[in-house]
Amino acid sequence: MGRSEPPEGTLALVNGRVLTFDAAGATLARSRATAVLIERGRIAAIGDDPAIVDRLGRRGDPLDLGGKVVAPGFVDAHIHAFDCALGSLKVSCLPPAVGDLSSLKARLAARAASIPVGAWVVGEGYDDMRLTERRHPTRLDLDEAVPNQPAVVTRVCGHMCVANTRALSVAGVEGRTPHPPGGRIVRDAAGIATGLLLEEAQGLILDVVPPADDEQIALALASTGRSLVAQGITTICEALLGASHPREAEIWTRVLSGMWDGPKVRFLADRRLLEDGVHHDLPVIGTKLFADGSVTGRTAALSQPFEGGTDTGMLIHEPRRLAELVGRSVERGLPVGIHAMGDRAIAAAVAAIELAGPAAATSDMAAGSAGTNAVRHRIEHCSLPGPSLAAMRSLQIVPVPQPVFLYAEGEAYLAQLGRDRSAHAYPLRTMIDLGLRPALSSDAPATSTEDASDPWLGVRAAATRTTWAGSSLGAREAITVGRALACYTANGASALSLGHRTGSIEIGKDADLIVLPADPLGSDPEDLVRLRPELVFIEGRDALGALRRT
Ligand SMILES: [Zn+2]
Repeated sequence: MGRSEPPEGTLALVNGRVLTFDAAGATLARSRATAVLIERGRIAAIGDDPAIVDRLGRRGDPLDLGGKVVAPGFVDAHIHAFDCALGSLKVSCLPPAVGDLSSLKARLAARAASIPVGAWVVGEGYDDMRLTERRHPTRLDLDEAVPNQPAVVTRVCGHMCVANTRALSVAGVEGRTPHPPGGRIVRDAAGIATGLLLEEAQGLILDVVPPADDEQIALALASTGRSLVAQGITTICEALLGASHPREAEIWTRVLSGMWDGPKVRFLADRRLLEDGVHHDLPVIGTKLFADGSVTGRTAALSQPFEGGTDTGMLIHEPRRLAELVGRSVERGLPVGIHAMGDRAIAAAVAAIELAGPAAATSDMAAGSAGTNAVRHRIEHCSLPGPSLAAMRSLQIVPVPQPVFLYAEGEAYLAQLGRDRSAHAYPLRTMIDLGLRPALSSDAPATSTEDASDPWLGVRAAATRTTWAGSSLGAREAITVGRALACYTANGASALSLGHRTGSIEIGKDADLIVLPADPLGSDPEDLVRLRPELVFIEGRDALGALRRT
C-alpha cells in the first residue's frame, strides 16, 4: 500500500552487532555478523565488515553504527491503531504518567492552550485509585486547569466522567436537572453538582461533544503510524477493522494511499464488514470473532468461578453458532482470529476451529509466496488456555497473547482469578515448550497504561511477570528476553502470514530493521522500557528520517 515500491537505494550498515535467530528459530541471539547490506529494500547480505564493504563496492559510503545493535523490527500482531488515533484526539490521563491531580490538570491546560477558543478539551483514562490524592477530580479541579472552555475527562473504566463548569453549562446541566434513567449526577451536601457523572448520566455531557471529522481522524491516524515506527514497530495487524467508526475502512484506505509513513499493515476485519460486502482494497488476513469478554470485567468465560463469587463469565455465542461463523470465514478463504480469554472460551474456540477446518488462502496477502506460508487460525489473547494448548498445537492455531496485561492489569488478575490461576495466565513458556509460536502484541490502546503500544513493556512483562505495583504473577511461565523478542518479531510475522517477508534478519527478506543504542539481551529487563531505536528501516526506507537529519 502506498509504499509498495521498494526504494532503489543500496545501504551498508557496518560496525554493528547483528541479532539473528538460533538454529531452532526460537530465540533471538547475538551473532558474529557485524554488517548488513540492504539493496532495493531487501536484505542482500549479512556478514563481517570487510565482506559487506566489498559487496558495496563503489555504491556509496558504508554507515558506521559505532557498535550499536541491529535487530529485526517489531511486529505487533494485535493492535488497534485506529482507536489509538481516536484516543490521541483526546488527552491521555492514564497512569503512571498521570499520577496526581496536578499532572492531570497540567495536561488538560496544555491541550486547552493548543486548540481553538471554545473547542472542547476531552480527556480520558484517569484512575482515582492510582492518583496520589485517591479521589476523583472535581468540577473545580477541572475549572482551575480549563477555566474558559468546556472540558470533560472520563475514568479509565468508562463508567464515569467528570465535567468542568463550562461543560455542565453548555450541556444545560444545572441544580434541578433530574438523574437520567440508569445514571446519576453526583451532588455535594449543598446540592451542587461536583462534576462527577455516573453511568448513563455521562451522556448528558459526552453526547454534546462534537465528533471529530474524517480529516482530523486521518491526520491522527497518520501520526499514530509515525509513533509506532518511533517505537521500533515495522509491521502491525489492526485487530478489528470496521467496528470503531462508520467510515473506518475508507479512512484507512485514504491514509494508506498517501499519508502513511508507518509500519506495514494487515487487518483482521469485523465479520459484519465482510458480510455487508463493504468494498475496500485493504489487505485483510482474517475475520475477527469474539468468544467471550474480559478477565478484568469478569466476563471472560471460565470453567471455575471468578474469585469471591459464583459467576463463571459468559460465552458470546452458542458453540454451534461460533463454529458456523468460523465456517463462513473459511468459505471466504480467510482464517479467523477469535478473541478468547477464559479457558472455557478458548476450548469453545478450538472446537469451532476444529469443526470448520483450515482456511485455504485465496488472496496473495494470505498465501504468501509459493505456498511457503501456511494460513493459520489465531486465538487472540489466549489468557488462560489450560488444557486446550495441546489441541491448539495439533491444529496449528497461533496464540496471540499480550504480556503487557500482566504488567498493566496484573493486580486485577490477582483479584479476579487468585494467585494460582494468575500464575498460569499467558503461559508463554508452556506454549513455546509445546511447540506453539505465540505472537506477542500490545492490544493498544485497550490497556490502561501510557504508551501501551511500546513493545518493551510486553517484552519486560514476559521476562519478569511483575505488575505495575510490583506484585509477582509467578516466574514459572517467564521467558528470556531473547525468546520474547523472537515472539514479538518472527512469530508475529508468521501469525500474519508474512514469515517469508519479515520478522528476522535473513537474506532475501524485507529490510525491516531497527538499530538500538544498547543490547537488549545484555540489559536488565527493567531498563528495556527506556530503549528507543535510533534508526528504523522499513523495506530499506529510513522510516524515522534520522539519516536525512545527520
Ligand atoms: Zn483487541
